[in-house]
Amino acid sequence: MRLTPRAHEIQRVVDVLEDPTFESPDQMAKALIKEVADIVQMRDLIVVVHTWEGGHKGLNFGPFGSTAEAEAFAKKMSFGGTGRLVPLTSSGIMLANHDGKAGWPGYCYQPDCGHAPWMHAIEGSSRGKCHDTTCPCEKFVKDDPTKKKTTRKKAAPKGMAAGINEL
Ligand SMILES: [Zn+2]
Ligand SMILES: [Zn+2]
Repeated sequence: MRLTPRAHEIQRVVDVLEDPTFESPDQMAKALIKEVADIVQMRDLIVVVHTWEGGHKGLNFGPFGSTAEAEAFAKKMSFGGTGRLVPLTSSGIMLANHDGKAGWPGYCYQPDCGHAPWMHAIEGSSRGKCHDTTCPCEKFVKDDPTKKKTTRKKAAPKGMAAGINEL
């Protein structure tokens, strides 16, 4: 299965790799496999549903990370019959919508919350208190607070730079 890693997924793996509390490589490997499985479960994937020429059902193959990958597989295997690409809805996303997912983009970054935005009360143009009665969250946190905001240096206007150089 081919996946294009996303920035927040890379960060989660880096967090495991940089965690100094593991006592053995085995422990770290276990945590890493769990993390990656969790990442994959948060993806919508594709399966190939195969039907033989006579019309009876073949096997279902997958999952694949993209339709291109699924098509390439079907082409390579050339089973005959017909293949249909069927999207698999991520069970991870469904669970995250239900239970919340702390530290995941699209969900509340309040560490005790992690609930979906629509679970928070609408307050003007933003979202306020979380509707989950057991949740202490008072305001939806949209952006990852651990992520550094990229501060771009403003280039000095050409005229001004030229003026400084003349001094
Ligand atoms: Zn909440
Ligand atoms: Zn919240």
